[in-house]
Amino acid sequence: MSRKLSPGRLVIASHNAGKVREIAELLGPHGMEPVSAGALGLPEPEETGTTFIANAELKALASATASGLPALADDSGLCVSALGGDPGIYSARWAGETKDFSLAMAKIHQALEAVGPDAPRDAHFICALSLAWPDGHVESFEGRVDGSLVWPPRGEKGFGYDPIFVPQGHAITFAEMDPAAKHAMSHRADAFRQLVEAVF
Ligand code: IMP
Repeated sequence: MSRKLSPGRLVIASHNAGKVREIAELLGPHGMEPVSAGALGLPEPEETGTTFIANAELKALASATASGLPALADDSGLCVSALGGDPGIYSARWAGETKDFSLAMAKIHQALEAVGPDAPRDAHFICALSLAWPDGHVESFEGRVDGSLVWPPRGEKGFGYDPIFVPQGHAITFAEMDPAAKHAMSHRADAFRQLVEAVF
């Protein structure tokens, strides 16, 4: 049985304004008043974990203990089967300092070519969500969407690795898809459905 979240202020442990807005829209109907870690001047801890959940937990706990409020953090990325799960928790880092995802997608393509022409193209996105309380209690959830990779990249609508990811049962990439359609089937939606069911 999960600990329940009472209506009130909830810290979103992210300094990314787009992410904070998206989470605010999802949790507003549940009586939560989201406030960003950036707005509270909370420090951003280094992501030293070796799993998505470990990184989400360390970010959520750092914000909850520093603010005295419950805090929600996420960690996500793309895992490519033929690359042993890479880039995985390093998905953002593969894009380098300048956050160049054309470069990150090209790195994946080159790594798959190096494996060989028959390397399987299976991949999945993961989204870990962790909710932490100031007393150190944490609840974590992991969402997933399976698909396969294409080359060259296609579509302009998404972000990150969306232009090379075709979700299972579809013929177009996440970046060619209507954003609402992507959001309904994404790893993030899957994780949020689990969280909402467990804590409200
Ligand atoms: P995070 O902000 O540390 O969780 O970084 C996750 C990284 O994974 C992002 O920078 C994206 O490159 C990638 N990623 C996560 N979710 C998605 C998605 O829905 N589409 C494309 N790329 C994603």
